[in-house]
Amino acid sequence: MSWHASVLTLYPDMFPGPLGHSLAGRALSQDIWSLEAVQIRDFAADKHRSVDDTPAGGGAGMVMRVDVLAACVDDVLARRPGLPLLAMTPRGAPLTQAMVRDLAAGQGVSILCGRFEGMDERLFEARPILPVSIGDFVLSGGETAALVLLDACIRLLPGVMGATTSGEEESFESGLLEYPHYTRPQMWEGRTIPEVLRSGDHAKIAAWRKQRAETDTRSRRPDLMERHGDATRQPPSGAR
Ligand code: SAM
Repeated sequence: MSWHASVLTLYPDMFPGPLGHSLAGRALSQDIWSLEAVQIRDFAADKHRSVDDTPAGGGAGMVMRVDVLAACVDDVLARRPGLPLLAMTPRGAPLTQAMVRDLAAGQGVSILCGRFEGMDERLFEARPILPVSIGDFVLSGGETAALVLLDACIRLLPGVMGATTSGEEESFESGLLEYPHYTRPQMWEGRTIPEVLRSGDHAKIAAWRKQRAETDTRSRRPDLMERHGDATRQPPSGAR
């Protein structure tokens, strides 16, 4: 059985979108993964098929109605009982490579996409939904966030990447950023590829890559380095 994604959205035409191309697109046509985009509006009960209403307490914008969302969520939970249900929201837990690995190792995922000012909070209290954010910025809708999450998962499914690239050396897998890459031409605008990468000495290359992963992570993402445990940091003078 293929890995399955159910996306709950007001814009089903946005799927598969970019995931219909390249690695993910090929994998979709090979049934390595499958996709359904569920129209949330189909679960609206009134004659206008309303999915949103004004915010309680006042303020700008509209809020997605809990009764409509719950009806849609219940339908998907009943049809896909084994899949974790995520909701894309800037108020969610940050998406990580570890989370992506877990999801890719499972049977698939259901993803609820928000619009407007977001979803009525009671949905999160009443249903088993994990709120997930793709970063500290605000998008206009959850669909692009869902595409990001799915892209990250799909490339890890068996048979999607070539046998030579397992993704295990990539950024965040070890907790650090990956080392930098180079390819021909050997000389470009007066800049050469680091000598060690042309040495053929695999031990030296591995050591150089490890060191660059550490120095680049330390300068670009000190937060990651902190979490990883900065093994190469000099101990305080009193401890030496
Ligand atoms: N009022 C909300 C807030 O300040 O937290 C933002 C709502 S946003 C305009 C509309 C929808 O886009 C959200 O319900 C969510 O589904 C999606 N979205 C926006 N930013 C996101 C992010 N960083 N991660 C995941 N989803 C996001």
